[in-house]
Amino acid sequence: MQLPRRQPPAADGGVQAGSRLRRLPTFSKAALAAKCAFPWNGGIAWPEQITSDAANFGIAVHRAAELLALWGTAPLDAIAEHYGLHGSELKRFHLTVGWVADFIRGEREQWSFAAAEVAFAVDPFVDESRILEQDGPRDYSRARPAELCGTADLVTVVGEQLIVSDYKTGRYKMGADPSADAQMRALGYAAARAYGYDSVEVRLLNVDEGGVRMTRRLLDVIDLATIRLELLGVVRDTGEVHNPTPKPGSHCAQQWCPIASVCPATQKTIAQINPELQLTADIRSPEHAARLREQVAVAKKALAALDTAIKEYAKRHPIPLGNGKVLGQQERTRRTIECTPEAVAALGRYGVSGAVESSVNMAGIKRAVKGVCANGQAAGTMRAIMAELEKLGVVKTRTYTTIAEIKRQ
Ligand code: SF4
Repeated sequence: MQLPRRQPPAADGGVQAGSRLRRLPTFSKAALAAKCAFPWNGGIAWPEQITSDAANFGIAVHRAAELLALWGTAPLDAIAEHYGLHGSELKRFHLTVGWVADFIRGEREQWSFAAAEVAFAVDPFVDESRILEQDGPRDYSRARPAELCGTADLVTVVGEQLIVSDYKTGRYKMGADPSADAQMRALGYAAARAYGYDSVEVRLLNVDEGGVRMTRRLLDVIDLATIRLELLGVVRDTGEVHNPTPKPGSHCAQQWCPIASVCPATQKTIAQINPELQLTADIRSPEHAARLREQVAVAKKALAALDTAIKEYAKRHPIPLGNGKVLGQQERTRRTIECTPEAVAALGRYGVSGAVESSVNMAGIKRAVKGVCANGQAAGTMRAIMAELEKLGVVKTRTYTTIAEIKRQ
């Protein structure tokens, strides 16, 4: 089956690479914009956004989920081919989408309304939101200058409740509280205002080959009013067109910044590591690309050395960080499970013997438990399994020290 051709998402929703126009961040970048508005206030031309294999995998899963929600079925082979998934990635895609299909099948009967890939444009000044027509995914070119945009993967109504769901592939935002997540808050606000609801349930759905993990919260009328003020703050901060400056911090590495490769603050840091390095994502010729490749290799080595030096320093002097935590030495324990027939049988009794096939470690068992347990039951089941494994004497505990971000005392 031939899929209709769709353009890949452009830089931050339809804004062309190389443009210096001031723009508003999309919902998914609202959290970063609150820390550093520099990418959006017109001070720098954006580099071309390059789609990685990981991004293609995520887009393919989203596309399949969209069709499963709308039609109850999806042409998986055609989607995989369209996004160039092969080998282990293809296997991972089928496993992941299998879980998504099961999840959607279980939910579909309750829906009195469902729409997938809904683009919103909100104007927090007038407290309004509208559904935006698009020519392709993440195309916000029809938004007005004062509107912030974002796309909900799925909007449904169950009973009287409006629900906005967002899929995340892999561990990104795993277990995060969606009512505290800037993107989910903006999506909830946008959907509630567009469809005329006073409250909205926001759901983060982490999907991978281990299953679907859902975290959900309700945003009530007061939350929605607060979110409007937050979005007004984003509009105000990105309006600082005079003398805009980057504000570097832990957010540069923890979140995805669309201009990280050309950011003057990043360039300055690199120049401090090695003054001869001049990194740019603007590739002009094959020779230039080859030279940059060498520079990237040197930069990686220099950054790895710097990272080691920082960790060594943190062992002796805890480092206060901009996010309120401290980088310092921490003692941790790791528990591994001996793979005896009794341990495998015990895991089988909880329906998670699948965890044994890949690895018998805590993380593998946790993933499998989340895959088979209803929402809210995973922690209790995990405790019961560990108690049984402890009794069998197959749990080995090892203590080690690591450098980590620690909450301040
Ligand atoms: S890399 Fe950091 S400092 Fe530079 S623009 Fe991005 S968020 Fe701001």
